[in-house]
Amino acid sequence: MKPELIAPCGMNCAICSAYLAMSRGHEKKKGMSHCTGCRARNKNCSFIKKRCTGGLRQNKIRFCYECSDFPCENLRKIDARYRKNYDYSFIVALEFIRDNGMEPHLVHEEMRYKCPSCGDVLCVHNGKCYKCQSIKTWRG
Ligand SMILES: [Zn+2]
Repeated sequence: MKPELIAPCGMNCAICSAYLAMSRGHEKKKGMSHCTGCRARNKNCSFIKKRCTGGLRQNKIRFCYECSDFPCENLRKIDARYRKNYDYSFIVALEFIRDNGMEPHLVHEEMRYKCPSCGDVLCVHNGKCYKCQSIKTWRG
């Protein structure tokens, strides 16, 4: 888990299916995306920045929690979707980083998404390990 893989919106690119598929050398198939991470691509959050009217759009902030609008409607929308579908909250992640720092956040993420079989990373979107192919049957 690396700080540069934490997107401005709070998403952890290290647990994203598109990043895992690319970084673990999986072939790109139809309907599957390959991504090097939001920050690496310098798109600064494809979900949020397009519609951002605050500091992120103007490159004035590194994380959405630094914005006076935090949490804005765009962030709340994607946060609600991720909470419902993947049991993951961008807002909780951002508040944790703001209040505790990046390092404890990365430790927490690593513990939560560690593959029980090989120690690699489980995907937040499908619970799959892209290294050993095992699938976690529970979320938590
Ligand atoms: Zn594994």
